[in-house]
Amino acid sequence: MRCDGLILHYAEVATKGRNRPLFIGKLAENVQQALSGLPFGRVERLSGRLFVRAQQDDLDLATVHARLKTVYGLSSYSPVVRTALDLDRIKEQALALIQGRTYTTFRVSARRVFKDLPYPSLMVDREVGAYLLQHHPAKVKLEGADLQVYCEMMPGSAYLYVDKFAGALGLPAGISGKVMCLLSGGIDSPVAAARMQRRGCRVFATHFHSHPFLSRASQEKAVELAEHLAAYQGQITLFLVPFGELQREIVTNAPPALRVVLYRRFMIRIAATLAAQFRCRALVTGESLGQVASQTLSNLVAINAASPLPILRPLIGFDKQEIIAEAKKLGTYETSILPDEDCCTLFVPRDPETHARAEAVTKAETALDIERLCSDALTRHERRDLAAPWVTPRAPRHPGVPQGDTVSEPRAADPETPAEELIDEETDAPA
Ligand code: ATP
Ligand code: MG
Repeated sequence: MRCDGLILHYAEVATKGRNRPLFIGKLAENVQQALSGLPFGRVERLSGRLFVRAQQDDLDLATVHARLKTVYGLSSYSPVVRTALDLDRIKEQALALIQGRTYTTFRVSARRVFKDLPYPSLMVDREVGAYLLQHHPAKVKLEGADLQVYCEMMPGSAYLYVDKFAGALGLPAGISGKVMCLLSGGIDSPVAAARMQRRGCRVFATHFHSHPFLSRASQEKAVELAEHLAAYQGQITLFLVPFGELQREIVTNAPPALRVVLYRRFMIRIAATLAAQFRCRALVTGESLGQVASQTLSNLVAINAASPLPILRPLIGFDKQEIIAEAKKLGTYETSILPDEDCCTLFVPRDPETHARAEAVTKAETALDIERLCSDALTRHERRDLAAPWVTPRAPRHPGVPQGDTVSEPRAADPETPAEELIDEETDAPA
């Protein structure tokens, strides 16, 4: 079947006022990247939509769907035929487009996006509709028709299509700035990361493991989950941080009931150090209020107090069943439920504190050399740069992060920074 390309529509991106060109530019860049290696030309900006020319007629639609579902910011996309702005040509193309389709009701929906066209869109609806009726007996139905023929008239060409596929919505990845996600091998944190990507964030990830005390299973899962997330932003940087030694010191020196809160406070400090070096402006976790003992309101407050960066918790009000449903839709669930030995299963107290008080936490930490414990773990971290299968990975310019003063204060986030300054630089070098 003839196909001249794809028309791609966006919704929320269009509401961005003065920043609109920036959002649309980022969206176009992300579409181009997602379609790389497929037979398409360059993404063109038309008024209010994007167009990408197809270099062959028979598109592998399954692959196009799989790629475009990773592009946040699209509201829909359609394979189109392009024709001259001439009513007779439009009629012919509309007829060709519906060949082989069965329907009993239909409608034509024409739109013109510029004023100079000599005929109004209603006239196109009527004329094209009447022409189609001459060739295919059917009923015109304005609401809920079996088949809808769209005709978008732009300066220079008309674009016709029938199929309209739903886009992933949200905002283009990278437009909202960078965040560091604490990525366990569990169900929740990849869903939390994906939620942030869908709001335009570029996600970095840190995973804590207890190898050699426990197996490498949790690291393998974290890598697989990060690879999955990479598809939605092209590439992802994952840090694997050994946590077993640190946990051992906590177990030896702190009250058992506070262990899990202390584990989390240390994870937050270490992740914030890595985050600051890549100018991530916030941390992200998969915590959900009340899900487990460490996620009571008091304990979340105690965890926040250790963080120099804001902690975003996109799943805070979610039920576990809702998170599971979202993980299945995202495609991370099957990996998340593989058996592993997460570091948090090591030395878990039988009776964890559910209302950690600030004074008790501070007192417990006086027995620990916070700076040394964090910098020891950071010195031994590994960095993985993972790319979507269709993206050629960029070699990291700085494969490690500077060591030494690893728990230094990160750069303060500036709430007034305009969106254009939040766009990623082309490199993932530490700031
Ligand atoms: P689950 O589906 O088992 O709840 P989870 O990832 O949410 O998985 P929790 O024990 O609920 O595990 O941990 C709460 C949050 O703390 C996680 O969502 C994650 O952000 C962070 N976290 C926990 N363990 C780790 C880890 N080993 N590495 C990195 N982050 C972790
Ligand atoms: Mg959880």
